[in-house]
This record gives sequence, C-alpha cells and structure tokens, in this order.
Amino acid sequence: MIDLAEARRVLLAACPLLEPVGLDSDDADGCVLAADVIAPGNVPPFDNSSVDGYAVRAADVAGAAQSSPVRLDVLGSVMAGSVADRPVGPGQTWKVMTGAPVPEGADAVVMVERTSATRTVQLGTAGDVVEVLSEVAAGAGTRRAGSDVRAGELVLGAGTVLRPAHLGVLASVGAWQVSGYRRLQVGVLVTGDELVTGGAELRPGQIYESNRAMLLALLRRANCEPVDLGVAGDDVTDLQSRLSSALERCDAVLTSGGVSMGDSDPVRAVLDRFGGLNWLQVAIRPAKPFAFGVLPGPRHPVPVLGLPGNPVSALVSYELLARPALRQMMGHADPYGRVVLGVADAPLPRPHGDGRTAYLRVSCRFGPDGRLHARPVSGQDSHQLSASASADGLAQVEDGRRVEAGDEVPVHLLS
Ligand code: AMP
Ligand code: MG
Repeated sequence: MIDLAEARRVLLAACPLLEPVGLDSDDADGCVLAADVIAPGNVPPFDNSSVDGYAVRAADVAGAAQSSPVRLDVLGSVMAGSVADRPVGPGQTWKVMTGAPVPEGADAVVMVERTSATRTVQLGTAGDVVEVLSEVAAGAGTRRAGSDVRAGELVLGAGTVLRPAHLGVLASVGAWQVSGYRRLQVGVLVTGDELVTGGAELRPGQIYESNRAMLLALLRRANCEPVDLGVAGDDVTDLQSRLSSALERCDAVLTSGGVSMGDSDPVRAVLDRFGGLNWLQVAIRPAKPFAFGVLPGPRHPVPVLGLPGNPVSALVSYELLARPALRQMMGHADPYGRVVLGVADAPLPRPHGDGRTAYLRVSCRFGPDGRLHARPVSGQDSHQLSASASADGLAQVEDGRRVEAGDEVPVHLLS
C-alpha cells in the first residue's frame, strides 16, 4: 500500500497539462487563465456621472444652500450613451443621467434631490432654470476615467480561476478572447455484467448501476465536459472497442469497476493490454484500489483512471484522486479540494486498524461558533451510497485515532 500523498504525487506527475488555447471569455467560467490579461484602455473610458442630477462647475455653486439657492441655466439633458454638444460655461448646467459623460467644463454633479427639480418638475430642457440647493466639492457625483481599471494595468493574472465576476471584468475591458485552458472532455466507462441502466427490468443477479450518472454530474461540476461511454459488460471485446474509441475523442477517461486486487476481471485484462497501467493500493478507506495509465491519444497522452466499482468508493476515489488529476490538466495550480479543520459533533466510527486512513462521510454545518461541525452519516459501508448522498464532507481519520464528540478533525469538503 502507498499513502494518499504518494499516490497523488505519482498520478499528477504522469498527467499532462493541456496546451493553452484561445477561449471566448463569455464561456470561460471555471477555466484557468494561461496568460496575464492587460487592460487595453481605461474603465470607465470617460468621466461620467454617478448620479442623476446636474453637471456644474463646483465654483459656481459654492455657498449654495436651501436658504440661498444658486440659479443655473439648463442647456439640455444628457442620457447614458449620448454626449453633450456644448460645454458648461459659468452659470450653466446640463441635466445628466447616471452613466452619462460629464460635459466639458463641468467638474461635479449635484444630485437631483439637492435641486429644485423634483419628480413632478422635470427641469431638463434648454431654457429651463434649475435652483441648486447645496454646494458640492469638485469631483463629487462623478466617476473618473480609469477609476475601475487603468489602461496598461494587469487586470487578471495567469493562473486565475475564472468566476462569473471575472467574466464581467474581461468584458468590461473588451477582452473577448483570452488564453486559457479549455474544459477537458472526460469519458466515463462503467463496467460490470451485473449492471443495468435505463429502466430495464432487473433479472436475477442484476442491479441498477449508479456510477455513470454520478460521475457524469461530478465531472460537470469540475468544469469538464463529460462523455458518456455507456455501460460495458465484463467482455474483453466490448471493453476494448469502447476504450479504443474513447482514446480517440477524450482527453481523459474514467472507468468504474474491475480494479480490485486479485481481480480476474476483464477490465484489468483490457487495461493491461493497452499497456503501462499502474495498479495502486492506496492506504485509504474506502477506495483502496486505483489504477491509472497514460495512453497515447491523437492530441496528447490520455490518462485512463480506473476507479473502484463500489459506488461510495468510486465517489471517494474520484474526489481524492481523479478530480485533482483532471484539475491539474486544466491548469489549476491548486488542484486539491479544500480541507477545513472541523469539530466532530458525535464520535466518529472507530478505525479498522488496517493501516489505512479513513475518509468518513460526514454532513457538515457551520455552528454559531463560526466553526465547521461534522456528523457522520448513518451508513459508512462502501455500497451504502444513499447514506453518503447527504454527506458534504470527508472526515479524515488516521488509523489508530479515535475521534470523540468535540474533537477536531480535518474535513475534506466535497465538491
Ligand atoms: P468491482 O469494482 O467491479 O469489483 O465491483 C465492486 C462492487 O461494486 C460490486 O458489488 C459491483 O456490483 C458494484 N458495482 C460496480 N460497478 C457499479 C456501478 N456502476 N453501480 C453500482 N454498483 C456497482
Ligand atoms: Mg465489476
């Protein structure tokens, strides 16, 4: 057996990093930037009004107050998206809406609430006179050009994992395309003669399989594009042809089932026939067996990751091993999930004394103390997926350690 850290090290060292490509920034949520993005221009591109009001020369309205209003001649109204056609001279003003360029000559905007213009009296036409009821400092009511992003400034650095607000930032600087790592196309190949999918009637000895839908959904959440390779029987020819075609069109392939120790499973035979597979015994519980190899593909070497078939093992193996490998291929500098030091709300099941670190499924909540509290789910066997389905964390318990209620325990947050 090797420990998880070592298994991760050999796995991640073997997996290739994708070549960066040009990504449409509109569609780059969750992708990693491969190059810095520099702002070609200022954001906002021009000084504009941050309020609905009247663009003034601050000096003109110095001393203005409710009791001593300053009267200004209105030149007209400027909407967002249009521009004033004349500068503001002494004693003059343009009515401006939020986002409208500040007309030349003006250096502040008095908000409409501090003028005689009310919702019923719209003073925005040339020839109107508006009374300003309070003074303003120069610059008030305006947003300066470049006050969000300056031309030439680093907007987002290489390695940034793009989130929705980042897509907004990229759009705001006009970066429609960025250099980044595309979504991996990951095949899911489920194996087992006993498995039935798609609502067919169960015959004796058969079960409905659960890993395909689960893995496809997990991949989507990891920002991959899953490729459903279906359910293969334990049949060498079937497996071989499905895997060969997967290697042609996928960046990576996940298989489920047939990786147990001493398995005479055809999965093992087929994978071995493709060559170069590593059969690991990882010192974790569940999900001890894990197989991987990096096979030749048309664009780049294609990792094939063999997850155990037991549904909870498949889930844990995916989280702790497969997902980090896929994330690394997509350029994530930190491919691992978040680990938080939590508090056990109940004693955790006792370790088995088998030299393996237990990853117990726990449901988590933040307590009034601001800390993460973890409680084990009711069934911890590796076939009990329904119990694990409500878990949102894996409590990591080293072999030999007993965790009582109130003890601290590292919790790996599930995606
Ligand atoms: P295996 O890893 O193929 O030896 O399978 C181990 C156990 O997990 C067996 O009880 C299988 O029936 C079960 N199993 C394998 N694949 C699946 C699946 N996709 N869905 C549900 N159970 C599975
Ligand atoms: Mg099997």
